[in-house]
Amino acid sequence: ACPFDSMHAKSELEKVKAALADPEKIVVIQTAPAVRVAIGEGFGYEPGTFLEGKMVGALRALGADYVVDTNFGADLTIMEEASELVERLKTGGQIPQFTSCCPAWVRFAEIYFPELIPNLSSTRSCIAMEAAMIKTYFAEKKGINPSNIVSVSVNPCTAKKAETKREEENAAARFYDDESLGMDTDISITTREFIRWIQEENLDFNAIEESQFDDLIGMETGASIIFGNTGGVMEAAMRTAYKLITDKEPPPYALTHLEDVRGMEGVKEATVQLGDDVTLSVAVVHGGKNTRDFLNALKDSDKHYDFIEVMACPGGCIGGGGQPRTKLPQAVKTKEARIGGLYEADANYKWVASYENPEIQALYKDFLGEPLGHKAHELLHTHYTDRSAVLGDRKDVTPETCPTSP
Ligand code: SF4
Repeated sequence: ACPFDSMHAKSELEKVKAALADPEKIVVIQTAPAVRVAIGEGFGYEPGTFLEGKMVGALRALGADYVVDTNFGADLTIMEEASELVERLKTGGQIPQFTSCCPAWVRFAEIYFPELIPNLSSTRSCIAMEAAMIKTYFAEKKGINPSNIVSVSVNPCTAKKAETKREEENAAARFYDDESLGMDTDISITTREFIRWIQEENLDFNAIEESQFDDLIGMETGASIIFGNTGGVMEAAMRTAYKLITDKEPPPYALTHLEDVRGMEGVKEATVQLGDDVTLSVAVVHGGKNTRDFLNALKDSDKHYDFIEVMACPGGCIGGGGQPRTKLPQAVKTKEARIGGLYEADANYKWVASYENPEIQALYKDFLGEPLGHKAHELLHTHYTDRSAVLGDRKDVTPETCPTSP
């Protein structure tokens, strides 16, 4: 009985294999930020080893027609989410804005805190955005009939399997008014399933040649790399919000190194100065119990926040239910090592902020128009539903009973 409803997922790995065996299908696979620092654990690497090139190489060896990066979708999420935050601040919209990229948190809010629905960012998750771009922009540019695409997501998350089946997750089909496109993401598999797949095909992971993502929707930034850990979405959003508010590049150590929102503490807070005139109060929460306690305390407090990141899994997506398993007490060290792997990659990456991603710039110029524009709203934004009625006699189910809670 998981209150985040993320534990009922069945493996659809066989469906991926069937799609790859079908000559009519074009299989496009995207990989989430947290997979690249955990996949190595299935093959004897230390937790946190950043294996992006091998991860892409493995998918090519398994037969993927295209491999693209959820990190690109994360940069897209930030473009829309930071723009939405700035819009809410300018127009007196509902504040605090809550992040919405964690489907388990979204469902939790819909069931247990439906009064917060107006505060949830309307931006779709990074995987959902990337999937919508696969069946629209990417298909158009590559000259592929989107009806032939099988869109696969490899990610750390069991809740993503349910997210991909939410009725509104068919933005590309609605965009073209063509039901044959199906859902934006056709199949979602976890990091563990990906490891099992490599093992079942007897691929020698150590010998796999490194490869790069395909172009158009395959570039990342440091901001999108850190999406995979607690505090990463907040830090990424602040980097771009700074630019949107001041029209200046964020200063290197004021914003691109938001220490106060880093680390495994359950609730983290920071004050962020965006130029001379805007000061934001932000909070970052992760884990089921922390989330419930934080939100209940918020109800009874007059504390003001402008922006709050919530991730259901302890540590964020690096600690997702679909990642390789480690037992306590080693589990905390493993999570910290995965987080370290992402921050190290961020520190060494040539672009720190999502708006610097050249492929993001090209996407808005050639296809979407502007953040929060008409096309962006159709493809990149969603809505939420009060689902508190489903509780019925399950009112005793609380996040303390959630197996992903710390
Ligand atoms: Fe999924 Fe956990 Fe990440 Fe939420 S925090 S998106 S449940 S892996």
